[in-house]
Amino acid sequence: MVISVASGKGGTGKTSVAVNLALSIENVQILDCDVEEPNVHLFLQPEIEKVEGVYTLIPKIDESLCNYCGKCAEFCEYNAIFVSKDKILLFSELCHSCGGCKLVCPTNAISEEPHKTGSVYSGKSKDIEVIYGELEVGDAVATNIVREVKKRIDKSKNVIIDCPPGASCPVIESIKGSDFCILVTEPTPFGLHDLKIAVSVLEEMKIPFGVIVNRSDLGDKRVYDYCKEKNIPILLEIPFDRRIAELYSRGIPFVLEMDEWKKNFRKLFETIKERVQK
Ligand code: SF4
Ligand code: SF4
Repeated sequence: MVISVASGKGGTGKTSVAVNLALSIENVQILDCDVEEPNVHLFLQPEIEKVEGVYTLIPKIDESLCNYCGKCAEFCEYNAIFVSKDKILLFSELCHSCGGCKLVCPTNAISEEPHKTGSVYSGKSKDIEVIYGELEVGDAVATNIVREVKKRIDKSKNVIIDCPPGASCPVIESIKGSDFCILVTEPTPFGLHDLKIAVSVLEEMKIPFGVIVNRSDLGDKRVYDYCKEKNIPILLEIPFDRRIAELYSRGIPFVLEMDEWKKNFRKLFETIKERVQK
């Protein structure tokens, strides 16, 4: 079973939920697809066994063949090429490797060369298989790395995917193919706003989902009213707890010190399993 853990905004406790769930069940593989800011490994401290570079093809421009016609820049919808009357510049960090500029160039001034966009790390933290991606500093295209991380999914395991926050392309790529998605939110107006966006994405993707309310005793009841109105199950509530916060600040997943929460996460897993098998 593949369970993705997502949230409409950052800082809701999404990674904490993913890690604590991973530590509460058996036969787990956890993938960190939040490749701009991977944090799962900070909590699980895996022993890294393999590091693999991720490369894409980007244009290589031979300026001696270029007549500065500007057709490549006109074609590129990501503004990765700039052409003036006597200069051409490529912003490789913006390139999405579509190859279109090469096709439209009338003088064959454009070829392609490999460009490193990130790395995928694989390792083990006790019995948990940990895989995480990391985007190269300054690179803006995260989706390729997410795809590379997900190529390593082992369906014989209980797979947990920590998604990037928000509702952009890398988030959709991370959630794609999941059997179930957990949306982590907070009972605040911002939490509700971002939850609504995340819900509309999941409805569009037709992936079953439920909500975990973090810091459930702070804020107001509007998230609950919304979930009730939309018939969205609240899977778990995690109240604000000084002990949880302290453990978090020391990088310790709270199920390791609070056994009752391990039970709660196990129950959560069983509930999800039942919903998926329905
Ligand atoms: S390969 Fe595509 S995205 Fe990259 S510079 Fe060329 S047209 Fe733009
Ligand atoms: S399309 Fe080719 S010739 Fe025209 S500006 Fe781009 S690289 Fe130069």
